Amino acid sequence: MSGKGKEIYEEIKAKIDLLKDENSVYSKFGEIWKLAGLGKYRSFDLRYLYEDTSREFVNKYKSQLIAMRNDFLENIEGYVKKCINVMEKTNKFKVYYAKTNEEAQEIFMKELGENKVIYKSKSLEAKDIGIIDVLKKNNIEIKETDLGDVLCQLFDYKYPSFTLAPGIQFTEEEIVAKIKEKYGVELKPEAEEIVNFYRKTYRPELLNDVKISLTSANAISAHDGSIVLIENEGNISLLTRATEKHIVVAGIQKIVPDILDAVLVAKIQERITNVDGAYISLISAPSNTSDIKGKRVMGMYGAKEVVVILVDDWRIAAVKENKFYKDILKCVSCKSCDFVCTASRAFGNIYASKYGIGAINIIRDYIHNGIEAAVKDGLFLCTGCENCKNWCPVEINLGEMMRELKREATRRGLCPPPLEAYKEKIFKEKDPFK
Ligand code: SF4
Ligand code: SF4
Repeated sequence: MSGKGKEIYEEIKAKIDLLKDENSVYSKFGEIWKLAGLGKYRSFDLRYLYEDTSREFVNKYKSQLIAMRNDFLENIEGYVKKCINVMEKTNKFKVYYAKTNEEAQEIFMKELGENKVIYKSKSLEAKDIGIIDVLKKNNIEIKETDLGDVLCQLFDYKYPSFTLAPGIQFTEEEIVAKIKEKYGVELKPEAEEIVNFYRKTYRPELLNDVKISLTSANAISAHDGSIVLIENEGNISLLTRATEKHIVVAGIQKIVPDILDAVLVAKIQERITNVDGAYISLISAPSNTSDIKGKRVMGMYGAKEVVVILVDDWRIAAVKENKFYKDILKCVSCKSCDFVCTASRAFGNIYASKYGIGAINIIRDYIHNGIEAAVKDGLFLCTGCENCKNWCPVEINLGEMMRELKREATRRGLCPPPLEAYKEKIFKEKDPFK
Protein backbone atom coordinates (compact mmCIF):
# COMPACT_ATOMS: atom_id res chain seq x y z
CA MET A 1 0.00 0.00 0.00
CA SER A 2 1.22 3.50 -0.82
CA GLY A 3 1.86 6.14 1.84
CA LYS A 4 -0.85 8.13 0.08
CA GLY A 5 -3.44 5.41 0.81
CA LYS A 6 -2.58 5.52 4.52
CA GLU A 7 -2.64 9.32 4.55
CA ILE A 8 -6.11 9.51 2.97
CA TYR A 9 -7.36 6.82 5.34
CA GLU A 10 -6.17 8.86 8.34
CA GLU A 11 -7.87 12.01 6.96
CA ILE A 12 -11.21 10.24 6.56
CA LYS A 13 -10.89 8.55 9.95
CA ALA A 14 -10.33 11.95 11.58
CA LYS A 15 -13.53 13.26 9.98
CA ILE A 16 -15.48 10.18 11.10
CA ASP A 17 -14.20 10.67 14.66
CA LEU A 18 -15.70 14.17 14.53
CA LEU A 19 -19.14 12.59 14.06
CA LYS A 20 -19.01 11.80 17.80
CA ASP A 21 -18.70 15.51 18.59
CA GLU A 22 -22.24 16.85 18.49
CA ASN A 23 -21.01 20.35 17.67
CA SER A 24 -18.93 19.36 14.67
CA VAL A 25 -20.05 20.37 11.22
CA TYR A 26 -20.20 16.69 10.20
CA SER A 27 -22.41 15.54 13.06
CA LYS A 28 -24.77 18.51 12.61
CA PHE A 29 -25.31 17.69 8.96
CA GLY A 30 -25.24 13.91 9.58
CA GLU A 31 -28.03 13.94 12.18
CA ILE A 32 -30.42 16.01 10.11
CA TRP A 33 -29.59 14.16 6.91
CA LYS A 34 -30.26 10.78 8.54
CA LEU A 35 -33.76 11.94 9.45
CA ALA A 36 -34.38 13.61 6.09
CA GLY A 37 -33.21 10.54 4.12
CA LEU A 38 -35.26 8.18 6.26
CA GLY A 39 -38.35 10.39 6.02
CA LYS A 40 -38.10 10.72 2.25
CA TYR A 41 -37.62 7.02 1.77
CA ARG A 42 -40.53 6.10 4.08
CA SER A 43 -42.85 8.60 2.42
CA PHE A 44 -42.30 6.79 -0.86
CA ASP A 45 -45.07 4.38 0.14
CA LEU A 46 -47.52 6.88 1.60
CA ARG A 47 -50.65 8.18 -0.08
CA TYR A 48 -50.73 11.70 1.27
CA LEU A 49 -50.20 13.95 -1.72
CA TYR A 50 -51.89 11.96 -4.49
CA GLU A 51 -54.10 8.90 -4.92
CA ASP A 52 -51.11 6.80 -5.84
CA THR A 53 -47.89 6.44 -3.87
CA SER A 54 -44.59 7.69 -5.30
CA ARG A 55 -43.47 4.08 -5.72
CA GLU A 56 -46.64 3.26 -7.70
CA PHE A 57 -46.11 6.34 -9.87
CA VAL A 58 -42.49 5.42 -10.58
CA ASN A 59 -43.34 1.78 -11.29
CA LYS A 60 -46.04 2.83 -13.74
CA TYR A 61 -43.50 4.71 -15.87
CA LYS A 62 -40.33 2.75 -15.14
CA SER A 63 -40.15 0.67 -18.33
CA GLN A 64 -40.95 3.76 -20.43
CA LEU A 65 -38.19 5.71 -18.67
CA ILE A 66 -35.63 2.93 -19.06
CA ALA A 67 -36.43 2.51 -22.78
CA MET A 68 -36.25 6.28 -23.28
CA ARG A 69 -32.85 6.64 -21.59
CA ASN A 70 -31.43 3.56 -23.40
CA ASP A 71 -32.59 5.00 -26.70
CA PHE A 72 -30.89 8.30 -25.82
CA LEU A 73 -27.55 6.63 -25.13
CA GLU A 74 -27.75 4.57 -28.31
CA ASN A 75 -28.45 7.65 -30.42
CA ILE A 76 -26.77 10.34 -28.36
CA GLU A 77 -25.12 12.21 -31.23
CA GLY A 78 -28.31 12.24 -33.31
CA TYR A 79 -30.34 13.64 -30.41
CA VAL A 80 -27.77 16.37 -29.73
CA LYS A 81 -27.77 17.44 -33.39
CA LYS A 82 -31.55 17.44 -33.63
CA CYS A 83 -31.90 19.41 -30.41
CA ILE A 84 -29.38 22.09 -31.40
CA ASN A 85 -30.99 22.48 -34.80
CA VAL A 86 -34.49 23.12 -33.49
CA MET A 87 -33.32 25.35 -30.64
CA GLU A 88 -31.46 27.57 -33.11
CA LYS A 89 -33.83 27.59 -36.06
CA THR A 90 -37.25 27.43 -34.45
CA ASN A 91 -36.78 28.66 -30.91
CA LYS A 92 -34.33 31.47 -31.69
CA PHE A 93 -32.07 30.49 -28.83
CA LYS A 94 -28.37 31.23 -29.11
CA VAL A 95 -26.88 27.78 -28.83
CA TYR A 96 -23.31 26.68 -28.18
CA TYR A 97 -22.02 23.15 -28.22
CA ALA A 98 -18.97 22.98 -25.96
CA LYS A 99 -16.71 19.97 -26.51
CA THR A 100 -14.98 20.47 -23.18
CA ASN A 101 -15.67 22.10 -19.83
CA GLU A 102 -12.95 24.66 -20.54
CA GLU A 103 -14.67 25.64 -23.79
CA ALA A 104 -17.98 26.00 -21.92
CA GLN A 105 -16.33 28.21 -19.30
CA GLU A 106 -14.85 30.45 -21.99
CA ILE A 107 -18.21 30.79 -23.76
CA PHE A 108 -19.90 31.55 -20.49
CA MET A 109 -17.46 34.34 -19.63
CA LYS A 110 -17.89 35.79 -23.12
CA GLU A 111 -21.67 35.82 -22.69
CA LEU A 112 -21.30 37.42 -19.28
CA GLY A 113 -19.47 40.36 -20.88
CA GLU A 114 -18.92 43.30 -18.56
CA ASN A 115 -21.43 42.08 -15.98
CA LYS A 116 -19.99 41.51 -12.55
CA VAL A 117 -23.03 39.92 -10.89
CA ILE A 118 -24.88 36.77 -11.79
CA TYR A 119 -28.06 35.45 -10.25
CA LYS A 120 -28.45 31.71 -10.27
CA SER A 121 -30.73 28.94 -9.21
CA LYS A 122 -29.15 25.81 -7.83
CA SER A 123 -27.39 24.11 -10.64
CA LEU A 124 -25.28 21.05 -10.07
CA GLU A 125 -24.43 21.21 -13.75
CA ALA A 126 -22.70 24.60 -13.33
CA LYS A 127 -20.49 23.08 -10.64
CA ASP A 128 -19.83 19.97 -12.69
CA ILE A 129 -18.87 22.04 -15.73
CA GLY A 130 -16.60 24.26 -13.63
CA ILE A 131 -18.60 27.46 -14.21
CA ILE A 132 -18.74 28.28 -10.49
CA ASP A 133 -14.96 27.97 -10.10
CA VAL A 134 -14.40 30.25 -13.09
CA LEU A 135 -16.85 32.86 -11.78
CA LYS A 136 -15.06 32.86 -8.43
CA LYS A 137 -11.66 33.11 -10.12
CA ASN A 138 -12.87 36.16 -12.06
CA ASN A 139 -14.37 37.82 -8.96
CA ILE A 140 -17.91 37.68 -10.33
CA GLU A 141 -20.45 37.97 -7.56
CA ILE A 142 -22.68 34.90 -7.49
CA LYS A 143 -26.11 35.54 -6.03
CA GLU A 144 -27.91 32.37 -5.07
CA THR A 145 -31.69 32.52 -5.17
CA ASP A 146 -32.92 29.19 -3.84
CA LEU A 147 -33.48 29.88 -0.14
CA GLY A 148 -31.36 26.92 0.98
CA ASP A 149 -28.44 28.17 -1.11
CA VAL A 150 -29.03 31.73 0.10
CA LEU A 151 -28.66 30.40 3.66
CA CYS A 152 -25.48 28.51 2.77
CA GLN A 153 -24.09 31.81 1.43
CA LEU A 154 -25.23 33.61 4.58
CA PHE A 155 -23.29 31.13 6.72
CA ASP A 156 -20.43 30.86 4.22
CA TYR A 157 -21.04 27.09 4.40
CA LYS A 158 -18.31 25.39 2.35
CA TYR A 159 -19.08 21.74 3.06
CA PRO A 160 -20.96 19.39 0.71
CA SER A 161 -24.66 19.63 1.27
CA PHE A 162 -27.85 18.12 -0.08
CA THR A 163 -28.75 19.74 -3.40
CA LEU A 164 -32.47 19.50 -2.79
CA ALA A 165 -32.43 21.31 0.55
CA PRO A 166 -28.95 22.76 0.94
CA GLY A 167 -29.73 24.75 4.10
CA ILE A 168 -31.35 21.85 5.94
CA GLN A 169 -28.60 21.75 8.58
CA PHE A 170 -29.26 25.22 10.01
CA THR A 171 -31.70 25.71 12.88
CA GLU A 172 -34.16 28.63 12.99
CA GLU A 173 -32.24 30.04 15.97
CA GLU A 174 -28.95 29.93 14.07
CA ILE A 175 -30.54 31.58 11.02
CA VAL A 176 -32.13 34.49 12.87
CA ALA A 177 -28.91 35.07 14.81
CA LYS A 178 -26.99 35.23 11.54
CA ILE A 179 -29.56 37.59 9.97
CA LYS A 180 -29.24 39.87 13.00
CA GLU A 181 -25.45 39.80 12.74
CA LYS A 182 -25.46 40.53 9.00
CA TYR A 183 -28.48 42.84 8.54
CA GLY A 184 -29.18 44.09 12.06
CA VAL A 185 -32.76 42.81 11.80
CA GLU A 186 -34.33 40.98 14.70
CA LEU A 187 -36.68 38.11 13.80
CA LYS A 188 -38.53 35.44 15.74
CA PRO A 189 -36.86 32.05 15.21
CA GLU A 190 -39.68 30.78 13.01
CA ALA A 191 -39.60 29.56 9.42
CA GLU A 192 -42.46 31.89 8.36
CA GLU A 193 -40.64 34.96 9.72
CA ILE A 194 -37.43 34.03 7.93
CA VAL A 195 -39.21 33.37 4.62
CA ASN A 196 -41.09 36.64 4.96
CA PHE A 197 -37.86 38.52 5.59
CA TYR A 198 -36.39 37.28 2.30
CA ARG A 199 -39.68 37.83 0.44
CA LYS A 200 -39.71 41.45 1.52
CA THR A 201 -36.02 42.20 1.05
CA TYR A 202 -34.79 39.92 -1.75
CA ARG A 203 -37.83 39.50 -4.01
CA PRO A 204 -37.84 43.14 -5.20
CA GLU A 205 -34.20 42.74 -6.21
CA LEU A 206 -35.03 39.59 -8.21
CA LEU A 207 -37.89 41.40 -9.93
CA ASN A 208 -35.92 44.52 -10.83
CA ASP A 209 -32.16 44.06 -10.84
CA VAL A 210 -31.35 40.83 -12.65
CA LYS A 211 -29.45 41.39 -15.90
CA ILE A 212 -28.02 37.91 -16.35
CA SER A 213 -29.31 34.71 -14.84
CA LEU A 214 -28.00 31.18 -14.84
CA THR A 215 -29.97 27.98 -14.56
CA SER A 216 -29.53 24.44 -15.72
CA ALA A 217 -32.43 22.36 -17.05
CA ASN A 218 -34.29 19.42 -15.60
CA ALA A 219 -34.70 18.16 -19.14
CA ILE A 220 -34.53 19.45 -22.72
CA SER A 221 -36.81 18.15 -25.45
CA ALA A 222 -34.95 17.24 -28.66
CA HIS A 223 -38.18 17.37 -30.66
CA ASP A 224 -39.05 21.01 -30.01
CA GLY A 225 -36.03 22.31 -28.09
CA SER A 226 -38.08 23.24 -25.02
CA ILE A 227 -36.26 23.63 -21.73
CA VAL A 228 -38.08 22.20 -18.74
CA LEU A 229 -37.46 23.51 -15.22
CA ILE A 230 -39.28 22.45 -12.07
CA GLU A 231 -39.24 24.32 -8.77
CA ASN A 232 -41.32 25.15 -5.73
CA GLU A 233 -40.11 28.62 -4.66
CA GLY A 234 -40.72 30.69 -7.80
CA ASN A 235 -37.11 31.88 -7.97
CA ILE A 236 -36.52 30.04 -11.26
CA SER A 237 -39.66 31.61 -12.74
CA LEU A 238 -38.37 35.06 -11.80
CA LEU A 239 -34.83 34.38 -12.99
CA THR A 240 -35.97 33.13 -16.36
CA ARG A 241 -38.48 35.97 -16.94
CA ALA A 242 -37.34 39.08 -15.08
CA THR A 243 -33.91 39.13 -16.71
CA GLU A 244 -32.28 40.47 -19.85
CA LYS A 245 -30.36 37.32 -20.62
CA HIS A 246 -31.06 33.82 -19.37
CA ILE A 247 -28.12 31.45 -19.74
CA VAL A 248 -28.79 27.72 -19.52
CA VAL A 249 -25.80 25.47 -18.91
CA ALA A 250 -26.42 21.76 -19.19
CA GLY A 251 -24.63 18.53 -19.97
CA ILE A 252 -25.99 16.87 -23.11
CA GLN A 253 -27.46 14.06 -21.01
CA LYS A 254 -30.32 16.41 -20.12
CA ILE A 255 -31.72 15.89 -23.63
CA VAL A 256 -34.75 13.60 -23.93
CA PRO A 257 -36.69 12.72 -27.11
CA ASP A 258 -39.75 14.94 -26.69
CA ILE A 259 -41.65 17.29 -24.44
CA LEU A 260 -43.75 14.54 -22.80
CA ASP A 261 -40.55 12.73 -21.81
CA ALA A 262 -39.18 16.01 -20.43
CA VAL A 263 -42.28 16.57 -18.29
CA LEU A 264 -42.18 12.94 -17.17
CA VAL A 265 -38.59 13.39 -15.97
CA ALA A 266 -39.63 16.50 -14.03
CA LYS A 267 -42.62 14.69 -12.50
CA ILE A 268 -40.46 11.70 -11.52
CA GLN A 269 -38.13 14.09 -9.69
CA GLU A 270 -41.07 15.69 -7.95
CA ARG A 271 -42.72 12.42 -6.92
CA ILE A 272 -39.54 10.76 -5.69
CA THR A 273 -38.42 13.72 -3.64
CA ASN A 274 -41.97 14.23 -2.38
CA VAL A 275 -41.79 17.96 -2.74
CA ASP A 276 -44.63 20.04 -3.95
CA GLY A 277 -43.25 21.18 -7.32
CA ALA A 278 -45.29 24.39 -7.52
CA TYR A 279 -44.11 25.42 -10.97
CA ILE A 280 -43.01 23.75 -14.18
CA SER A 281 -41.56 26.16 -16.75
CA LEU A 282 -41.43 25.22 -20.43
CA ILE A 283 -39.17 27.71 -22.19
CA SER A 284 -39.38 27.51 -25.96
CA ALA A 285 -38.20 30.98 -27.09
CA PRO A 286 -37.03 34.31 -25.73
CA SER A 287 -39.83 36.72 -24.79
CA ASN A 288 -41.32 38.29 -27.93
CA THR A 289 -44.30 40.10 -29.38
CA SER A 290 -45.73 40.56 -32.87
CA ASP A 291 -48.45 42.94 -31.75
CA ILE A 292 -47.18 45.94 -33.71
CA LYS A 293 -47.95 45.44 -37.39
CA GLY A 294 -47.13 41.76 -37.05
CA LYS A 295 -43.43 42.49 -36.74
CA ARG A 296 -41.75 40.09 -34.34
CA VAL A 297 -39.73 41.95 -31.72
CA MET A 298 -37.75 40.03 -29.11
CA GLY A 299 -37.78 40.95 -25.43
CA MET A 300 -41.22 42.15 -24.40
CA TYR A 301 -41.49 41.49 -20.66
CA GLY A 302 -39.36 38.35 -20.28
CA ALA A 303 -35.80 37.48 -21.23
CA LYS A 304 -34.59 39.17 -24.41
CA GLU A 305 -32.07 36.45 -25.01
CA VAL A 306 -31.89 32.79 -24.11
CA VAL A 307 -28.41 31.34 -24.43
CA VAL A 308 -27.97 27.58 -24.18
CA ILE A 309 -24.55 26.05 -23.58
CA LEU A 310 -24.70 22.29 -24.12
CA VAL A 311 -21.63 20.52 -22.83
CA ASP A 312 -20.13 17.22 -23.95
CA ASP A 313 -16.75 17.02 -22.15
CA TRP A 314 -16.56 13.30 -21.19
CA ARG A 315 -20.03 12.22 -22.19
CA ILE A 316 -19.89 11.07 -25.83
CA ALA A 317 -16.47 9.51 -25.28
CA ALA A 318 -17.90 7.55 -22.33
CA VAL A 319 -20.57 6.06 -24.59
CA LYS A 320 -18.27 5.39 -27.55
CA GLU A 321 -15.54 3.86 -25.40
CA ASN A 322 -18.08 1.93 -23.34
CA LYS A 323 -16.72 3.30 -20.06
CA PHE A 324 -17.99 1.55 -16.93
CA TYR A 325 -19.63 4.80 -15.75
CA LYS A 326 -21.43 5.61 -19.00
CA ASP A 327 -24.82 4.67 -17.53
CA ILE A 328 -24.81 7.71 -15.26
CA LEU A 329 -25.78 9.58 -18.42
CA LYS A 330 -29.18 7.92 -18.01
CA CYS A 331 -29.62 9.54 -14.59
CA VAL A 332 -32.79 11.61 -14.19
CA SER A 333 -31.52 13.31 -11.00
CA CYS A 334 -34.32 11.95 -8.82
CA LYS A 335 -32.09 11.60 -5.71
CA SER A 336 -33.46 8.17 -4.71
CA CYS A 337 -29.93 6.82 -4.49
CA ASP A 338 -29.08 9.48 -1.89
CA PHE A 339 -32.09 8.79 0.34
CA VAL A 340 -31.52 5.05 0.54
CA CYS A 341 -27.73 4.95 0.69
CA THR A 342 -26.47 3.25 3.85
CA ALA A 343 -23.07 4.99 3.65
CA SER A 344 -24.69 8.37 3.16
CA ARG A 345 -26.95 7.84 6.18
CA ALA A 346 -24.06 6.75 8.35
CA PHE A 347 -21.49 9.32 7.24
CA GLY A 348 -23.54 12.29 5.96
CA ASN A 349 -21.40 14.82 4.11
CA ILE A 350 -18.19 12.90 4.76
CA TYR A 351 -19.38 10.56 1.98
CA ALA A 352 -19.39 13.31 -0.64
CA SER A 353 -17.38 15.23 -3.19
CA LYS A 354 -17.23 18.93 -3.99
CA TYR A 355 -20.16 18.30 -6.35
CA GLY A 356 -22.47 17.10 -3.57
CA ILE A 357 -23.24 14.13 -1.35
CA GLY A 358 -23.46 10.45 -2.29
CA ALA A 359 -22.10 7.97 -4.79
CA ILE A 360 -23.08 9.76 -7.97
CA ASN A 361 -21.09 12.82 -6.93
CA ILE A 362 -18.11 10.69 -5.97
CA ILE A 363 -18.22 9.13 -9.45
CA ARG A 364 -18.43 12.65 -10.91
CA ASP A 365 -15.29 13.57 -8.98
CA TYR A 366 -13.56 10.46 -10.31
CA ILE A 367 -14.45 11.40 -13.90
CA HIS A 368 -13.08 14.92 -13.49
CA ASN A 369 -10.28 14.48 -10.99
CA GLY A 370 -9.27 10.81 -10.90
CA ILE A 371 -9.20 7.93 -8.45
CA GLU A 372 -7.36 9.66 -5.62
CA ALA A 373 -10.12 12.30 -5.45
CA ALA A 374 -12.77 9.54 -5.21
CA VAL A 375 -10.89 7.81 -2.38
CA LYS A 376 -10.67 11.13 -0.51
CA ASP A 377 -14.44 11.54 -0.95
CA GLY A 378 -14.96 8.33 1.02
CA LEU A 379 -15.16 5.74 -1.77
CA PHE A 380 -14.37 2.91 0.65
CA LEU A 381 -17.22 3.92 2.97
CA CYS A 382 -19.62 2.50 0.38
CA THR A 383 -21.00 -0.68 1.98
CA GLY A 384 -21.87 -2.35 -1.32
CA CYS A 385 -25.49 -2.74 -0.16
CA GLU A 386 -26.85 -1.91 -3.65
CA ASN A 387 -29.83 0.01 -2.30
CA CYS A 388 -28.93 2.65 -4.90
CA LYS A 389 -29.34 0.21 -7.77
CA ASN A 390 -32.53 -1.31 -6.38
CA TRP A 391 -34.26 2.05 -5.97
CA CYS A 392 -33.06 3.76 -9.13
CA PRO A 393 -35.97 4.32 -11.55
CA VAL A 394 -33.66 3.77 -14.52
CA GLU A 395 -31.75 0.88 -12.91
CA ILE A 396 -28.33 2.50 -12.90
CA ASN A 397 -25.95 0.21 -11.04
CA LEU A 398 -24.03 2.76 -8.95
CA GLY A 399 -23.01 -0.05 -6.55
CA GLU A 400 -21.11 -1.83 -9.35
CA MET A 401 -19.49 1.45 -10.45
CA MET A 402 -18.30 2.02 -6.89
CA ARG A 403 -16.92 -1.55 -6.84
CA GLU A 404 -15.03 -0.82 -10.07
CA LEU A 405 -13.57 2.31 -8.48
CA LYS A 406 -12.53 0.30 -5.40
CA ARG A 407 -10.77 -2.19 -7.67
CA GLU A 408 -8.88 0.61 -9.39
CA ALA A 409 -8.00 2.23 -6.07
CA THR A 410 -6.73 -1.08 -4.71
CA ARG A 411 -4.57 -1.64 -7.80
CA ARG A 412 -3.13 1.85 -7.26
CA GLY A 413 -2.32 1.13 -3.59
CA LEU A 414 -5.02 3.44 -2.25
CA CYS A 415 -7.07 0.91 -0.33
CA PRO A 416 -7.50 1.50 3.45
CA PRO A 417 -4.96 -0.32 5.70
CA PRO A 418 -7.54 -2.61 7.42
CA LEU A 419 -8.66 -3.92 4.02
CA GLU A 420 -5.05 -4.33 2.99
CA ALA A 421 -4.54 -6.45 6.11
CA TYR A 422 -7.50 -8.66 5.11
CA LYS A 423 -6.02 -9.07 1.65
CA GLU A 424 -2.70 -10.19 3.13
CA LYS A 425 -4.48 -12.76 5.31
CA ILE A 426 -6.44 -14.09 2.36
CA PHE A 427 -3.27 -14.54 0.34
CA LYS A 428 -1.15 -15.95 3.14
CA GLU A 429 -3.58 -17.80 5.41
CA LYS A 430 -6.40 -18.41 2.90
CA ASP A 431 -8.66 -17.06 5.67
CA PRO A 432 -9.32 -13.37 6.31
CA PHE A 433 -10.42 -13.96 9.92
CA LYS A 434 -7.39 -15.88 11.25
S1 SF4 B 1 -23.92 0.35 -2.73
FE1 SF4 B 1 -22.74 2.03 -1.85
S2 SF4 B 1 -23.47 3.83 -2.93
FE2 SF4 B 1 -25.01 2.23 -3.25
S3 SF4 B 1 -26.50 2.55 -1.62
FE3 SF4 B 1 -25.05 1.04 -0.88
S4 SF4 B 1 -23.52 2.24 0.24
FE4 SF4 B 1 -24.66 3.69 -1.04
S1 SF4 C 1 -28.65 7.42 -10.26
FE1 SF4 C 1 -30.77 6.73 -10.39
S2 SF4 C 1 -31.55 6.97 -8.31
FE2 SF4 C 1 -29.69 8.20 -8.43
S3 SF4 C 1 -30.40 10.22 -8.98
FE3 SF4 C 1 -29.88 9.18 -10.89
S4 SF4 C 1 -31.80 8.29 -11.59
FE4 SF4 C 1 -32.09 8.82 -9.45
